[in-house]
Amino acid sequence: MNAEIPSNSRIRRRSWAEPWKVKVVEPIRMTSRTEREAAIREAGYNTFLLRSEDVYIDLLTDSGTSAMSDSQWAGMMLGDEAYAGSRNFFHLERTIQDHYGYRFVVPTHQGRGAENILARIMIKPGDVVPGNMYFTTTRLHQELAGATFMDIIVREAHDPTCELPFKGNVDLDALAALIERVGADRIPYISLAATVNMAGGQPVSMANAREVHELAARHGIKVMLDATRAVENAYFIQQREPGYASKPVAEILREFCSYTDGCTMSGKKDALVNIGGWLALNDGNLYEEASNLVVVYEGLHTYGGMAGRDMEAMARGIVESVADDHIRARVGQVEYLGRKLIDAGVPVVRPIGGHAVYLDAKAFYPHLDQEQFPAQALAAYLYEDSGLRAMERGIVSAGRDPETGRHRHPALELVRLTIPRRVYTQAHMDLTAESVVAVHEERMTARGLRLVHEPRYLRFFQARFERL
Ligand SMILES: *Cc1c(COP(=O)(O)O)cnc(C)c1O
Repeated sequence: MNAEIPSNSRIRRRSWAEPWKVKVVEPIRMTSRTEREAAIREAGYNTFLLRSEDVYIDLLTDSGTSAMSDSQWAGMMLGDEAYAGSRNFFHLERTIQDHYGYRFVVPTHQGRGAENILARIMIKPGDVVPGNMYFTTTRLHQELAGATFMDIIVREAHDPTCELPFKGNVDLDALAALIERVGADRIPYISLAATVNMAGGQPVSMANAREVHELAARHGIKVMLDATRAVENAYFIQQREPGYASKPVAEILREFCSYTDGCTMSGKKDALVNIGGWLALNDGNLYEEASNLVVVYEGLHTYGGMAGRDMEAMARGIVESVADDHIRARVGQVEYLGRKLIDAGVPVVRPIGGHAVYLDAKAFYPHLDQEQFPAQALAAYLYEDSGLRAMERGIVSAGRDPETGRHRHPALELVRLTIPRRVYTQAHMDLTAESVVAVHEERMTARGLRLVHEPRYLRFFQARFERL
């Protein structure tokens, strides 16, 4: 299957050392503590509002921040920038069909473009969309299309200390009860994410995906996968689920996708590109509608908001992303950072997820009330300490209940240290761990925040705060 990049899955290594060497470097700037205190104050204590030049180690997100390979950069020169029918689109389409197994592909500028189209073609007002924990943009598009999101993830996912191998799994009893209660005709699809970002990058097992599919199919309900980090999920299946240890990640990915009817995808994560995404479907009628609607929101159905060169880089990135050596080193680096923090006694979500280490801000700052935004406050202290940029995943990200207008209070109040793919070294991870430990040592003097500016949609991106 990996025609271009041979898979090295049969080479036994002692550690997760990277299967690449560095060819180009990008200098980063160190700042003084005084500069950082001024910068975060000016940014309203929101790390999204910092200038990247003022950041030393940027663990805000793994989205669009990966380093491309020389093969991907070479592919950029082969961009066919025709308005219609670019050869790079056909290469991308074939690569998605081969690796993810879906029949039809609609390119989009990034994941949320695909989410918008999927929600618009499948949801009618009053519908209910069950999912294994919400994701910010996914749920918003479902709500804007008139649906109510219902969380059907296993209970343990809300407990950061509970060590389960597949904490992203769907609670099948909860799903069955929901179908019984609201009726299958009000459920346009099940929104299955693998891995589950908001639960800490936790995977879904193959057995669970199969059972969700069987239950849904019995009621004529489709399963739509958020495939953003499905390769990382496949790696966890290989490592943790009986029967998969000797199977290549590429094969596991295809089997996993076979239990779903389509997917939305942010190419900015697994697929190792800075921009791009797609919607994939097996149903010809849905594809017909999606390829019509993409023209309204994204661009023609053979580019969907991407340049030809972007599609070429993503096609090559997909092939690289499923290579066992790549994914092992990628997740290995995340586990390395997580292990260091666990050993130092820092409260983190267990087990360590695929793309990030999540600090448990409730346990970090037990003296702060959730309405004093402990995770937001912690992210700001980390930046002041070392120029390390992280992100809040707690009450700010959860937003307000559209019915009551009150803050939603998620059980998990987290700070995410997200590792870009193929970008930082082990020394950067060591420094990150030292900074977190230093902030942890000062934890009892930490103060909370007050919200002073709140945007209407996805407020975590642009909200502003003052320190109490
Ligand atoms: C990033 C992400 C999305 C949205 O994709 P974008 O490319 O940022 O629009 C959807 N789902 C998950 C799980 C994500 O992490």
